[in-house]
Amino acid sequence: MNEMKRVLIIIAGTLAWFAVLALFAVSFHIASDWRIKIEGVPDGEAAVECGGDFTPPAVTAAFYGNILFRGGVPLTVAADGAVDASKVGEYVLRWRTSAFGTDAEAEYRVSVVDTTPPVITLVPEEREYILPGTAYDDPGFAAADIADGDITDRVRVDTEDDGKTLTLRYTVADSSGNGAEAERTVRYDDPIPPEIALLGDAEISFYAGREVFSEPGFTASDNVLGDIADRVKVEGEVDSGTPGTYVIKYSVEDDYGNRAEAVRTVTVVEPPKPRTVTVQKDYPVDGPIPDRVIYLTFDDGPGAYTAELLDVLKKHNVRATFFVTGNGDPSLIAREEAEGHSVGIHTMTHDYYSIYSSEEAFFADVWAINEIIKEQTGSYTTLLRFPGGSSNTVSRFNPGIMTRLTAAVVEAGFTYFDWNVTSGDAGGTTDTREVFLNVTGGISGKSAAVVLQHDIKGFSVAAVDDIIEWGLANGYVFLPLTPCSPTARHRVNN
Ligand code: ZN
Repeated sequence: MNEMKRVLIIIAGTLAWFAVLALFAVSFHIASDWRIKIEGVPDGEAAVECGGDFTPPAVTAAFYGNILFRGGVPLTVAADGAVDASKVGEYVLRWRTSAFGTDAEAEYRVSVVDTTPPVITLVPEEREYILPGTAYDDPGFAAADIADGDITDRVRVDTEDDGKTLTLRYTVADSSGNGAEAERTVRYDDPIPPEIALLGDAEISFYAGREVFSEPGFTASDNVLGDIADRVKVEGEVDSGTPGTYVIKYSVEDDYGNRAEAVRTVTVVEPPKPRTVTVQKDYPVDGPIPDRVIYLTFDDGPGAYTAELLDVLKKHNVRATFFVTGNGDPSLIAREEAEGHSVGIHTMTHDYYSIYSSEEAFFADVWAINEIIKEQTGSYTTLLRFPGGSSNTVSRFNPGIMTRLTAAVVEAGFTYFDWNVTSGDAGGTTDTREVFLNVTGGISGKSAAVVLQHDIKGFSVAAVDDIIEWGLANGYVFLPLTPCSPTARHRVNN
């Protein structure tokens, strides 16, 4: 029994000791205030500019108590998470540790943001200007953003063109809404002058009064504007009736002040002086007009009797005048000239209705026959006889034409002749004897006789031999007409 008691007392004593120890341990624990501290995590949140530097904070942890470990016992910290500063985003960094069954953790929020605008880079325009009207060839551009990288393909280009300056505006925005813009201006200019091309010759000349100058025209073009003929300014005038040198200036200007000029020189030439006709007879053609002179004149040839007539004239060494047409063998004109006769203009066609339809038509006809005369004789003639004479009335279908032409031919340098002795061979008679009597009767009493005959009429030509013999026997000198000879002009009737 006592043994039993002793065992129970030992047990009770041990339990009491345990209770005291436990009470002590709990009191110690409470009094020590055990805790874990994580240190080095900044307060709040961080914002980092994209592309900048971000250094994660140095974080440590330790176990502390008030009684024991007051200096702290370092703990191992597990870090989780990372910040990529090159990418815009929200990042969280976490740290964890534990000791004696107690966990501790901390976190840090970091925003990587992009507040930096992108940059637009223009490839420089090397040209000082561009030609108007040409499509602009952009030398290039690029856009880069710190966050988005190459955003060239997002660039918008707006163009403004006022004709003098081309403005290009480049705009772009990055994903964060930061915008950038750039501008390029290019000047329009045109250094290339326009061109004037003259139609017709740049140097024109003609005889005064024989032509009327009319502008042959021109073209003008510009590299930008195209056809600018309507801008050409023409300065200068030509007086077709007055000899001289006339300069016509053509000028044109494009929109950029480039000019082109051209010049045409028109020389209006004094008509040729009358041809000097050399006569082998005793009386000089250019000398004083003799007291008694006969000018035999033959119209409308050459014809079938011209050669025969030339033979008769040659036989008597007598010179006459032929007012020729384009109707016969032109080589006879050469012979007339070669044998000392005067050659004058009558008409190319002898078609009154066409010749007298206008001044232009008349002069065209005159010059057509004068060209033939030149071909045959080597020079133009200034001697002229109007078809029908200056007194004709057949031209009255064109009122006043003879009044105008008689002045115009003189102004053009011609000398025109009518006649004061008619042979009647144009219709009055077809008889050789009557022709002779008409001519000799007409000459009688005149000191200077201008006789009209036609060498296309055989019966008239047949009278010439007798007429010459009669004239020579009566003291007359036969001469060819020159511009200084008596003109025997009629009164104009139209
Ligand atoms: Zn005639």
